[in-house]
Amino acid sequence: MIVVTGATGQLGRLVISALLKKVAAADVVAAVRNVEKAKDIAALGVQVRASDYNKPESWDAALKGADRVLLISSNELGQRAKQHRVVVEAAKRSGVKLLAYTSVLRADASVLGLAAEHKATEEAIRASGIPYVLLRNGWYTENYDSVVKSAVNLGSVYGCASDGRISAAARVDYAEAAAVVLAADGHAGKTYELAGDTAFSLAELASEIGRQAGKSIGYVNLSEPEYKKVLLGVGLPEPYAALLADSDTGISKGALYDESRQLSRLIGRNTTPISVTVKSAL
Ligand code: NAP
Repeated sequence: MIVVTGATGQLGRLVISALLKKVAAADVVAAVRNVEKAKDIAALGVQVRASDYNKPESWDAALKGADRVLLISSNELGQRAKQHRVVVEAAKRSGVKLLAYTSVLRADASVLGLAAEHKATEEAIRASGIPYVLLRNGWYTENYDSVVKSAVNLGSVYGCASDGRISAAARVDYAEAAAVVLAADGHAGKTYELAGDTAFSLAELASEIGRQAGKSIGYVNLSEPEYKKVLLGVGLPEPYAALLADSDTGISKGALYDESRQLSRLIGRNTTPISVTVKSAL
């Protein structure tokens, strides 16, 4: 039995779809905090179990009988290490035989502010003694969906990543990799640095958007405080604006660049290029 947490999220839904191509629906459990939101998942024959990262008491029932668990990282910044520990501890009590975790590229050495909670979670997983596999995901190409739209309106892409390169891949690529490690033996103890095959800078992203939109679009490189101000100006809450600006600075230092191609090797095909994401966002 394979349990997927965060199964109603964007990545979680794609993991469930990818798993159903490899194993029977009866062997898959979707652990979700809002059961109502998972009606379509239940309709696929997948068992849906209520569980909340903020409710430690909900996890023993959610993981009952689980052989393998995919812990999809929470989206509640600042709370994540604590929330993830709840699942790790329940997995330990339940005798889970493989715990997979969606971390971030080179979590142990990353300069990204967002890596701290992933690093703390990885340490908790290692300390638990549960056989584990770390899926250290790079950036999603879909992170640039809103950038594509605003660039067409404003004529520019804004950021503070300088000429840093980003090895992004689509959520569907990372989801397929998760399904590969969950559905087959031989992945315990491995740490995968997962990223896209083809890297791009924000200037190259701007020119790709311009090419597809049929207009001239450039990249404007700001300082980190200036970029944060732009993000606050378009309505992002402070912690997210700070996180995105910090991430761009990390990108300028190579934090989201990777040329190992471990993701395409795991899924047996090339990763989705940014041009596809730009097209669908347009
Ligand atoms: P998402 O769509 O925001 O999904 C997050 C999932 O976490 C949702 O299913 C949400 O439940 C669940 N969740 C949040 N708080 C919870 C709680 N207290 N208890 C139980 N479940 C809870 O994010 P995503 O796109 O699928 O990405 C998955 C994760 O990757 C994110 O949460 C974040 O940690 C990370 N991430 C990575 C990148 C990247 O570029 N690599 C970008 C953004 C995020 P509901 O469905 O009920 O809301």
